Amino acid sequence: MTSAPVSIGHFIDGQAVAGTGGRHSDVFNPATGAVSGRVSLASESEVAAAVASAKAAFPAWAGTSPLRRARILFKFKELIERHHDELAALITSEHGKVFTDARGEVIRGLEVVEYACGIPELLKGEYTEQIATGVDGWTVRQPLGVCVGITPFNFPVMVPLWMLPMAIASGNTFILKPSERDPSPSLLLARLLKEAGLPDGVFNVVQGDKTAVDALLHHPDVEAVSFVGSTPIAQYIYSTGAAQGKRVQALGGAKNHMVVMPDADLDQTVDALMGAAYGSAGERCMAISVAVAVGDVAERLVQALEPRVRALKVTEGMDLAAEMGPVVTAVHRDKITGYIEDGVKAGATLRVDGRGYSVPGFEGGFFLGGTLFDHVTPDMRIYREEIFGPVLCVVRVPDFASALALVNEHEFGNGTAIFTRDGGTAREYVSRVKVGMVGVNVPIPVPMAFHSFGGWKRSLFGDHHAHGPEGVRFYTRQKAVTQRWPASIEAGAQFAMPTHK
Ligand code: NAD
Repeated sequence: MTSAPVSIGHFIDGQAVAGTGGRHSDVFNPATGAVSGRVSLASESEVAAAVASAKAAFPAWAGTSPLRRARILFKFKELIERHHDELAALITSEHGKVFTDARGEVIRGLEVVEYACGIPELLKGEYTEQIATGVDGWTVRQPLGVCVGITPFNFPVMVPLWMLPMAIASGNTFILKPSERDPSPSLLLARLLKEAGLPDGVFNVVQGDKTAVDALLHHPDVEAVSFVGSTPIAQYIYSTGAAQGKRVQALGGAKNHMVVMPDADLDQTVDALMGAAYGSAGERCMAISVAVAVGDVAERLVQALEPRVRALKVTEGMDLAAEMGPVVTAVHRDKITGYIEDGVKAGATLRVDGRGYSVPGFEGGFFLGGTLFDHVTPDMRIYREEIFGPVLCVVRVPDFASALALVNEHEFGNGTAIFTRDGGTAREYVSRVKVGMVGVNVPIPVPMAFHSFGGWKRSLFGDHHAHGPEGVRFYTRQKAVTQRWPASIEAGAQFAMPTHK
């Protein structure tokens, strides 16, 4: 028996708030295909209420010492640890990814909270005594005000946690607009922040779609917008937000290549490719979706991959033996299926076909098996566009130079990896590749919380990467102070440009 869908609302001014606008969107359990919830889609007035709350909370929060803000984050960290399984199960129930992977997602988000606990150290400015006789100069970094995060479906805990700990630790207030496809984990985060002692209004959740996003982008009291999602929307957010005078960082889509050199350890490479291409059903912005097989490694690589892809254990995510769960919605599954049809028509060799996959007992779920294409060429849509599903394309190239040129010519530049035993080749690749995050024998080179995350080219619009030191810079602005006291002030007006004395 399936239970009735639950109503999923907002979190504004420290309270759970049911939607009033009347519009809603269905939330699915991807493993069963059933509608598990109905999420409210905020109206402009609901967005305005959240902004008003965040604006009112800002002066007191910005005036709270960084150490006190850090103590709340320490408590939040403890609460996330205590609710680790609950958060992960919530992710699996609305996103579909396997529970063990969802647990890992929570940890990667938690690491940003841990980093943000060091905010008293991170906010320290620079000081120069005696920039001139009797004059001192220093810089401080101050919070911006109301900041907004707009996040994608594929990491409903980790990506909000790339943003909100850094923003609020820095003294800002924050409004999260999560994906309408998996909106519940953000409400649990809001409850945990409140339990940790965060004052009302400092963190708010507004559920919604384009209406809510546009209201936030045009609201005069919003100072900064962090976005993670697909490239067309990232570009829209960047241009619209910037035109409104807001600070914007907008992380977009990806097509990540793994270059496999002929000298690579084949077993290690195949293991790495399996996890990187099919983990989370390929719905990761750092997933490897293209294997670039250099020289004579191609045939050996495809021969080794094929049985492994066929043997993938695809089932519902709470099954602890599952390696891959369903994709997020039926619409998304159909889009991926369309890409597979397109690849076949374009002449790529379909070595493993994941279409029509069904899991006994979960016939309504949005499942696809792993798919493997060989002899993919750069003119094909399956190569050029982000599929965001469990589809790996093998492109064969003759040598290293062609592999590097291929990667550099792609419009996206989020992540990439090279597998080789040759240090010189790896070094050359790291130095010359036009991609923001590079792995050497590491398939998914996601930087840790104390570094920053971001791609190049059409994978990121704006100047700052996410979290880490770049996060502190994004969520603060610098003030430079020059000071002297009466004893050192010279008598008389000065009309010439002051110079060092
Ligand atoms: P999406 O772009 O469809 O949605 C992202 C957010 O934008 C959601 O909150 C959504 O409600 C909102 N949105 C959607 N359409 C909008 C519109 N027309 N106007 C205003 N707002 C709109 O992305 P998604 O499908 O949720 O997530 C998958 C995408 O995110 C992939 O392209 C993936 O590569 C990318 N992604 C990138 C990174 C990164 O770090 N670069 C990380 C995770 C995901």
